[in-house]
Amino acid sequence: MVFFCYIDESGTPEIPGNTSHYVLSGLSIPISYWKLCEHRISSVKKKYGLAESEIHTAWIVRKYLEQSKITGFDSMDFGQRRHEVDKLRKAELLRLQKSPNRNHYKQTKKNYRQTEAYIHLTHAERLSLIQDLADLIGSWSFARIFGECINKIHFDPARARQGADEQALEQVVSRFEQYLKIVAKSTREKNLYGALIHDNNETVAKKHTELMRRFHRHGTFWTSIEKIIETPLFVNSELTSLVQIADLCCYALRRYFENNETDLLNRIQDRFDRKNSKIVGIRHFTDASCQCVFCKQST
Ligand SMILES: [Zn+2]
Repeated sequence: MVFFCYIDESGTPEIPGNTSHYVLSGLSIPISYWKLCEHRISSVKKKYGLAESEIHTAWIVRKYLEQSKITGFDSMDFGQRRHEVDKLRKAELLRLQKSPNRNHYKQTKKNYRQTEAYIHLTHAERLSLIQDLADLIGSWSFARIFGECINKIHFDPARARQGADEQALEQVVSRFEQYLKIVAKSTREKNLYGALIHDNNETVAKKHTELMRRFHRHGTFWTSIEKIIETPLFVNSELTSLVQIADLCCYALRRYFENNETDLLNRIQDRFDRKNSKIVGIRHFTDASCQCVFCKQST
């Protein structure tokens, strides 16, 4: 029996960076469910005309300014909407090309590229896509979500003796390992193993590989590593739906801590790893006065 834990991050680990929180989250599934998961995700994507596209939650849920400038946008078909948005975007890029501020042009071009796949969907449709996917994750009784959510205002790398990203990986690895040990014990399955799957990002890849080697040799601060095998396996997130789903989980967690948004969190919360009904899979690293759902239950 093998479990894959798909890992992704949200926010920047640098301190202070431009976000208050850094979140590293993992979604674990038994590999026997892999085909089913892929199939269900692709059905949702197809419904929104996104069969071939990557799901990048933060870009999808943004408001696209051009859409609000097009009269009758909602009643157009996908092709017309795409055509109208493209027209406005081309005109805007031409206008910016003439402006002396090159950065503005470059940034706009990047924003357009990141959102291009989704411009045929209204804002309401895009939100509903992400909600459908969150509901889907929530319904997967075989899946578990692990996460370390660090409030960087209260994180001191000197005291922690490691960076926010290192602490986060150590926590997620420890909780995934504990989960595997518990499942192995309760199912009496001796041959039960887990592996971590990451988005391929060069800087993160090297760091996480080295850290994982260390955990294999010396354990984490919390546990020995017996069930997780190998260093993380790296995949291209554009082609791997479940890494995109891990990205959605990270997004939901970060938006809860930073903006108190509960809609997506509530949809996936049944998948947070629990022990005796208490959430043990997710930790909020912050000051003692925090009243969030994760901190409140641990006091
Ligand atoms: Zn909290």
